[in-house]
This record gives sequence, C-alpha cells and structure tokens, in this order.
Amino acid sequence: MPSFRSVLEMIGNTPMVEVRRLDTGPCRLFLKLENQNPGGSIKDRIALSMIEAAERDGRLKPGGTLIEATAGNTGLGLALVASQKGYRLLLVIPDKMAQEKVFHLRALGAEVRMTRSDVGKGHPDYYQDMAERLTRETPGAFYVNQFANPANPVAHETGTGPEIWEQMEGRLDAVVCGVGSGGTLTGLGRFFRKTAPNVKMVLSDPKGSVLAPLVKTGKMTEAGSWLVEGIGEDFVPPNCDLSLVSEAYTVDDREAMTTARELLRQEGVLGGSSTGTLLAGALRYCRAQTSPQRVVTLVCDSGNKYLSKMFNDFWMADQGLLDRPSKGDLGDLIS
Ligand code: PMP
Repeated sequence: MPSFRSVLEMIGNTPMVEVRRLDTGPCRLFLKLENQNPGGSIKDRIALSMIEAAERDGRLKPGGTLIEATAGNTGLGLALVASQKGYRLLLVIPDKMAQEKVFHLRALGAEVRMTRSDVGKGHPDYYQDMAERLTRETPGAFYVNQFANPANPVAHETGTGPEIWEQMEGRLDAVVCGVGSGGTLTGLGRFFRKTAPNVKMVLSDPKGSVLAPLVKTGKMTEAGSWLVEGIGEDFVPPNCDLSLVSEAYTVDDREAMTTARELLRQEGVLGGSSTGTLLAGALRYCRAQTSPQRVVTLVCDSGNKYLSKMFNDFWMADQGLLDRPSKGDLGDLIS
C-alpha cells in the first residue's frame, strides 16, 4: 500500500470482501466496500469526478464557488474535495435533516443554508430551487446537480465498474445496486454492457419508491415514504437509465434495516441503511438461483451515521421495525 500525497488519491480502489456467514443459496456474494472511501461513502467518487470535469471545461475557476442541494453523502464528498482543492462550497439543506450531518458538513468547511422542508418543487424556498437561484446570484458559481451531471455516471463507468471487473477476475453474473441519483446504476450498467453484456444489473429499491414498480410494470405509481436514506425516488432522475435493469426487487424498511444489522453481526461490516436494502435484494436474488452465480453488491456508506437510529433497538422499536430489544442491551437493564 503506497503512502498517498492527498486524501483525494485515496478515493476509489476500494476493497471487496466475500459474504461468508449469511445464506447466499448456491451463489457467492461479494461486497464492494465503498464505505472505505475517505469521506465515508461512494459519493466521494462522483464529487471528485464532477469537480474535475467542471475544472476541465472551464465552468469552475480557481477559488470558485460550488453549489449543491443535498445534506447527504454527496455533500460530504463535495466538502472533502472542495476543502482540498480550495473551493468555496455552499450547500442548501432542508431543515428536517439531522443536526449531526450539518455539523459534519460545517466542520469540513462547507457553508450551509437551511431552508424549509415543507414546500415542494416550484416554491422559491424549495431546496433545489433555492440552490439554482443562489447559483444565478453568485458570480462564478457552479451548480453541481448530481441528478443531471454526466460526470456522475462517468465516475462509475470508468472507476467503480473496471475495479469490480478486475476484483472479480472477469467472472461475474450480476450486480445489485440502488438508485439515488442513478449514477451508480447507469455508470456500472454502461460499463458492463460494453465489457461483459451478460452481467445482469439488478435494482434493489425501497418500498415506496417509484423505480422498482416502474421496471416491473412499466407504469409510474404514486410515491410513498420510507426511512432508508440515500436511495429510492419519486421521479426518474435524468442520470438514471432504467433500461439497463433486468430485474428489480422492492425491500421495505424492516427488511433493509434488519439485514444491515445482520451484516454487522454476522460479517463484521458496518454499512448504512441503503446497504441494507441492497444486501437484502442481493440475498433474495442469490437464494432464487438454481445454479451457482457470482454476484456483487455495494456497501454504499458507513453505518456510523446510523448508530442512534438503525443500530439502536429503541429507535427501531419506536418505528415498529423491531419487536423487542435484543437481549443484553440497555433494554434489559432498565425494564
Ligand atoms: N447509498 C447511499 C447511502 C447514498 O447516499 C446514495 C446516493 N444518494 C446511493 C446509495 C445511491 O447512489 P446513486 O446516487 O449513484 O444512485
């Protein structure tokens, strides 16, 4: 392992580990550990790729300002890259977002503008509309816009995809992924269509999202709500090419979160809630096979951010996702 000149060089080239103890039917299932990126998630890759593309085509000048509407992992990735490259970063965030996330972003040097959570697209205070307005009002500002920025899927087409192919030594049958912006699905799908068209792209989607029903029935449904963070949509983002998907699974919050908890207990991997959705879909896919396959899914971010939620029995019970606290924890001591 080399010594790196900057954390930016540590983005990507993430390790892969095989699932050993969970039941994978006749298949072998491998996890690409994107939580090992320096900013803690898969989004470091696209932050770097979108910023470097904007530098190359002149939309971003030295000392310029980046604007994005997100409180999620993309914000953390952008904050990390902006801090290292000397850009100002302005993030517009709905006020329902967890304080911890805002503290983390501010600690990285990002400027955070809070806005209302109770208004929808088209309202001037809606976080995306506000980000667009701030971009128009700020000289030299660049609106990153992960949902439509082509450098988002490119990061996966040229980075994540080739890494997976090499780590699997060219023997791979299916990749299970989720959709937030669609960058991962579209980038990996394009890479495999070109390199190994027999590799299936399998979508694992939260219950309530419109994407899996759209793949299965071709019809747009009314979106519901879900607790899993970072994936599932109420629209199809411009960066999301669903024609690349050959199979789709719908996973509810209970299955996603109990699976993420099992992943930690059984395999020692601390993943976030979207990882739970992906792994649950991947396990269902693996168990449904009649012949052995080699399957990859992603650990998109670290479970650190979810310790007081998904990994907390009381929170899980409050949400109706766990029947009773597990033995030996605080629940037994105080009851
Ligand atoms: N998991 C997590 C935790 C995320 O934050 C995201 C991105 N919002 C994804 C998965 C999905 O990735 P993509 O945007 O490439 O569809």
